[in-house]
Amino acid sequence: RAKEAGGGYEMFDPAMHQRALGRLELENDLRRAVEEDEFAVHYQPIVNLQTGELWGMEALVRWDHPERGLLDPDEFVPVAEESGLVVPMGELVLEEACRRAVVWQRELPRTPPLAVSVNLSGRQLRRPDLQDVIRRALEESGLSASSLGLDITETVYIGAMDANTAALDRIKALGVRVSLDDFGSGYSSLSYLKRLPADILKVDKSFTKGLGLEAEDTAIVQTVVDLAHILGMEVVAEGVEVDVQETLLREMGCDFGQGYHFSRPLPPEGALEFLNSAYRG
Ligand code: C2E
Ligand code: CA
Ligand code: CA
Repeated sequence: RAKEAGGGYEMFDPAMHQRALGRLELENDLRRAVEEDEFAVHYQPIVNLQTGELWGMEALVRWDHPERGLLDPDEFVPVAEESGLVVPMGELVLEEACRRAVVWQRELPRTPPLAVSVNLSGRQLRRPDLQDVIRRALEESGLSASSLGLDITETVYIGAMDANTAALDRIKALGVRVSLDDFGSGYSSLSYLKRLPADILKVDKSFTKGLGLEAEDTAIVQTVVDLAHILGMEVVAEGVEVDVQETLLREMGCDFGQGYHFSRPLPPEGALEFLNSAYRG
């Protein structure tokens, strides 16, 4: 409707205009959110499937919007990404997650210490100062690098593989873990796995869903677990929602699981309660 065939001009499209305005408003709001730090970080437990112990927490950003309430990432991360605001937003999340992990580690000393992982956008990965930002977050919080993991989604990684591999090598030089997120959701090619400087593969939840139901999904997950292990990586299965998935994953030798079956993402107080029940119950 927007383009007249052959006419060479664009008709005014009220719906499109509305969307553009909405996008602009969101971006302005988001700029303020970064200045005022209106973000809330929720945490989802990651469980060691072989021992049943809690292994770590993934930090997942929420936006505590003054009028619209708590927003999920899919409502604002795409605009944050496009506008570049994901860079300062991501720094806030990283700093908060590092500080929180230190509090939890003090509260519950154990070996190995509780791990925390933070999502990194493509924009952040391409920043030349990324290494300094991470180093500073670790120093200021006192978190040890070995307790921090960074998630990079598969689609981001394969977008510019050489540059991204170099960036990941610089992060890893700090002693931080790297995970490849949403593995299998994009145009996976097995050949790049060999070059990937990641410690962990996170199997996309679309595969976990079919475990025990679809023979193909079960075979794919088993193959990914085996391949990752051969390549020296550990595996997290995402989106574990039911008991049978947990059982199958454990039998397959999958290292870690994450999903509603264990817990939904929790605000910090809820996450602390989870920690306490998992360790002092
Ligand atoms: P992700 O990194 O793959 O995070 C896992 C998502 O799956 C989370 O959605 C989580 O709530 C959801 N999830 C967990 N368990 C289950 C389950 O059993 N079933 C189902 N159906 N879903 C489950 P959430 O929190 O809405 O985050 C969505 C995405 O937003 C994340 O996907 C990540 O890519 C992005 N994101 C989250 N926080 C940040 C951040 O701080 N920075 C950046 N750049 N991206 C972020
Ligand atoms: Ca993630
Ligand atoms: Ca994922």
